[in-house]
Amino acid sequence: MSRTLLIVKPDATKRKLIEYIINRLQAARFKIVEKKELQLNNSQARQFYAVHEGKHFLDSLVKFMCSGTIVPMILEKNNAVNDLRALIGATDPAKAERGTIRFDIAEDIEKNSVHASDSNANAKKEISFFFNK
Ligand code: ATP
Ligand code: MG
Repeated sequence: MSRTLLIVKPDATKRKLIEYIINRLQAARFKIVEKKELQLNNSQARQFYAVHEGKHFLDSLVKFMCSGTIVPMILEKNNAVNDLRALIGATDPAKAERGTIRFDIAEDIEKNSVHASDSNANAKKEISFFFNK
């Protein structure tokens, strides 16, 4: 078993898609170990997205991620990191494969409904950012 972090982003919480996303995750055999609902402030969002320092989309991304509540959750499954990336699909929903969560619900390349850790090392860091684990 391994763990990864998923975040339901503000565009999806605003559209009341938390339960929908949880159902999709459970149907794909992810176990939800822990979850919470919160709103990030600017400095927390910048810290979370520190790897994107210098990218053209960072300011807008930070503003978006602070624009409403988010739901981070720890997910557990065999091969959790890669399987979750496959389930959510490409960053840009226009390029996401049919059947992926972003294909089905994302609004655009920024407001793409969910975040997922991209490696085991980042999963560890991102889990400890939100949870005491
Ligand atoms: P995430 O990290 O949220 O799981 P990702 O790994 O698919 O998404 P990253 O390259 O890490 O994509 O970008 C982080 C987030 O920044 C994206 O999910 C999206 O919200 C936003 N983003 C990425 N590229 C762009 C872009 N070209 N224009 C606007 N926003 C972008
Ligand atoms: Mg990423």
